[in-house]
This record gives sequence, structure tokens and C-alpha cells, in this order.
Amino acid sequence: MEQELIQIKEKALAAIKAADDLTVLNEQRVRYLGKKGSLTAILRGMGKLAPEERPRIGQLVNKVRADIESLIEEKQTALKARELSDRLATEKIDVTLPGRKRELGHFHPLTLTLNKLKDIFRSMGYSIAEGPQIETDYFNFEALNLPKDHPARDMQDSFYITDEILMRTQTSPVQARTMQSHEPNSPIKIIAPGRVYRRDDYDATHSPMFTQVEGLCIDENIKFSDLKGTLTMAMQQLFNDDLKLRFRPSFFPFTEPSAEVDISCVMCHGKGCRVCKGTGWLEILGAGMVHPRVLEMSGYDPQKVSGFAFGLGVERVAMLAYGIEDLRLFFDNDLRFLKQFC
Ligand SMILES: [Zn+2]
Repeated sequence: MEQELIQIKEKALAAIKAADDLTVLNEQRVRYLGKKGSLTAILRGMGKLAPEERPRIGQLVNKVRADIESLIEEKQTALKARELSDRLATEKIDVTLPGRKRELGHFHPLTLTLNKLKDIFRSMGYSIAEGPQIETDYFNFEALNLPKDHPARDMQDSFYITDEILMRTQTSPVQARTMQSHEPNSPIKIIAPGRVYRRDDYDATHSPMFTQVEGLCIDENIKFSDLKGTLTMAMQQLFNDDLKLRFRPSFFPFTEPSAEVDISCVMCHGKGCRVCKGTGWLEILGAGMVHPRVLEMSGYDPQKVSGFAFGLGVERVAMLAYGIEDLRLFFDNDLRFLKQFC
């Protein structure tokens, strides 16, 4: 039995030393010290020994057990330390690596242009008015002097939702809404920016959806010269100080008189180039004095007050300001294009 104990001890110590991780070590602990382990088996067999031999063998068993236990403990400490240093090595953070860059967003060129327009008109005392993009036929047309049979409606071929509701074809309904929400004859100075919709082609210069800014100024004694002064100052601030404006007679149902407004070409400064088709002028605005009928429709008295209105396309302005030749680039969401406006 003594021989057997010495063999168990040697085998156990060798196995523990060889254990390469904590799982294997634990298996060895169970194998030698567990309830069904080899040492326990020896203790059970002690009954068969002669009584005088029992204390000596008992002592020996305890000694072997203590030796195995202390080696297991030692090995366990060593394995745990190794596990920790392994983990520290694999989870190491290299602080010298370049960081992950977070991409910063920025404004779309149309928003940049719109913001510039808003700033210009705000500096002249205008406030910003907004209205719904889904509009009633009444506000989109009738309140602007365009009854149902008016031929000028064809100029704004539209997306109808029902006979009475449509995607607004202009931001002018915001003008009518603003007038009707004010005390009759009280002064108004607003610009109405926003998306508008027309049944149109989608090509380099047309889109069924585009962005408009319209302006409305109503007060006592507002004259055509006020309109000219306002637009001249606004366009010069928008493009350049030596810009010239040209007013050509035109027709809009909601203004009388009406004018198409050209600016001297921002590319060639009036000398004539490809952009202005050699004319030196670029068409950019529609404007005029508010039609007396429009004032009346909204409860204003054309005998007491007068006003002017104007409208321009934001895409057109952005194309000229940034030298962009294809309108579709604004809506394609191509980052190679959009990143140029950071
Ligand atoms: Zn030109």
C-alpha cells in the first residue's frame, strides 16, 4: 500500500505539472482528490490493514494529499497569472493608431443658397412665412386671380390629388394665406420659401419639383420704384455689387403691371457668353405690382394700400452662383457632387 501511495503521488505531481490550463488542472484535482479519486480509494481500503499499520499509512495519505494540494494551488496561481497576461496582450489598445474620423454633415447647395436669400431679405426687414405643400385650389389659384377657366393655369400644369386639392405650383398661396390672416390693410413684408410642384420634364434645366422664394410687400404708397430698388439691392448682394437689372413687360394674373426681371450675366458681366447665349442678360425673376383684384380677394382695399410681389427659383440662382450646368445634380444625392460645397 505504501508503494501504491508513492506511485499515486508521483503520477499526480507529474500530471499537475503538465496541466496547461485551468480546466485540465481541475480534472486532475478530481482524479486524485475527488470523492471517486485514487486517494479516497486508498482511505477506504484502510480497514483491511492491520491496526498497528493504520496510523503510519494514515499519516502518509495525509502527507500525499497535502503535497498534491499545495502543488495544485501553486499551479493554479501560475495559470491564472498567465491567463491574465495573455488577455492583456490580446486586448491591448494601440493608442498610436489613427482615430476613426466621424464624417461631418454640411448643408446642401440649395439650402446654402436659400439661407443666403433669407439673410438678404431679413436684413431688409422681411420675415419668413411658410405654408403647406399640399394646397387647395382656392389658395393656389383662385385667391391669386386665377379662376378655374383661366388660360394661365395651363402655364402651371399641376399634380392634382382631388379636383380641389393639389401639390402647390408656386409659393404664392402663402401670400394669400398671410394676407387673409392679417387685419385688412395692415402692412406685410414677407418672403415665402419652399418646394413647389409642376408637371414638367426632368432634364438639365427642368424638374417636376423645385424651390421657390416669393416676396410680398404691402403698405400704403408702395410704388414700382420700391420694387426696383428692393430687387436691385437683393440681387447685388446675392451676386455682385456692379450687377445691373433689366425689367421687361410681362404678364402674370396676380400682378399688374408685371415684369420679367433679368440680371446682367454673372459669368461674362454683360459681354456675352455661352451661359447667357451671347445676350449679356440672364432671366431670373418674375415680379410686379399686386393686382387690385388679389388685394380685394384677401380683404384689402386697393384704394388704401398697394404692394409688390416677386418670385425666383432657388435652383436657378444656385446654378448661376456655383456655375452648375445640370439641375439634376441637386437631386441625385451624389456625394462626389455634394462634398464640393462643404
Ligand atoms: Zn454671359
